[in-house]
Amino acid sequence: MAAIQKTSESTYIFLNISDNTLDDIDRSSHLDNQLNLNSQPPRYGLGTLEKLPLEIIHLGLIQLDIQSLTDFQRVNKRARLITTSIPQYKPILIHAPALLRGILNIQTARYFTCQDLYNTLSTAECDTCGDFGGYLYLITCRRVCFLCFTEQTDYLPLLRQDIIRKFGLDSKHIASLPRMKSFPGCYSPRGIKCRRRRQTLFDPSAARRAGIAVHGTIEAMETYATEMILKKLPVYQSRPSLCGRPDGSGMHVLRPPRVEDPFDAQCCNPRRFMGVMRAPLLRGMMVAPEWGFHCLACKPHHYGRPLHWRRMYMVDSFRDHVGECGEIVEGKHVPRMKLGE
Ligand SMILES: [Zn+2]
Ligand SMILES: [Zn+2]
Repeated sequence: MAAIQKTSESTYIFLNISDNTLDDIDRSSHLDNQLNLNSQPPRYGLGTLEKLPLEIIHLGLIQLDIQSLTDFQRVNKRARLITTSIPQYKPILIHAPALLRGILNIQTARYFTCQDLYNTLSTAECDTCGDFGGYLYLITCRRVCFLCFTEQTDYLPLLRQDIIRKFGLDSKHIASLPRMKSFPGCYSPRGIKCRRRRQTLFDPSAARRAGIAVHGTIEAMETYATEMILKKLPVYQSRPSLCGRPDGSGMHVLRPPRVEDPFDAQCCNPRRFMGVMRAPLLRGMMVAPEWGFHCLACKPHHYGRPLHWRRMYMVDSFRDHVGECGEIVEGKHVPRMKLGE
């Protein structure tokens, strides 16, 4: 019986791929120097808050959403010192400041707390499939792997008109739904250019849940959505296709109501990359963050699991992968039977 091959540099690789997620777009640096506070003691305190032990202040601060925590540290230098010493916040600032920047820039910082972010960064598994998730979906702070965020509907942010059409919602229902503001740039491995500035994109899972809550069941929601489309169609068909003032000014083509979802090009759909950033696994302040690695033997495999070049691993999950797909001999998985077991 062949011994299980140890994880070594001959079996895994770090692919240097530019996926054009938000990482590659957002390079502003206003948070980077938060830890570079000069040694001068702060001139002002925090008033009555100072009467509480530091641990209690920290406990309160980690329950604040990221936006409120960021606002708090802008109060003065003492507030900044206290915030940057929060045991859960400091490792994020040190090891993943880009994530905080991204969250603030796409305006999703109101939807989760510092504790939520820390918990997600301390968990290795993709929220959907359990593989190592090398990315964070920033609208609702979910850890996700490449294959899930490029394939699953949960990670395709939707336009306002799409959630209204699909889930039978109106303005009142969508007011509190998690959403992001897009950044213009080139997204997806194909680098597709998106020029539109600050487009609002909604979290599809929250929108779907809201639709089910409003209509009672999935079936009732879908029936309502279909009926609404059928109602709009005759209105569209009865109108001239060109609209405008009688003098011919302001002419525009009247578009038919959308009946189906727009084409989802999955790993080439730029919208799937606008609210996603690479995310390390944090194991505390003093331990180096882990970014995961790819399987060398899976590099030529581009279709489906378990052999897929974009799956990522930690040491333990890689051992499981080798157990499932066979040891790696000369850069290829060799099933156990062929090894004469
Ligand atoms: Zn996954
Ligand atoms: Zn493999």
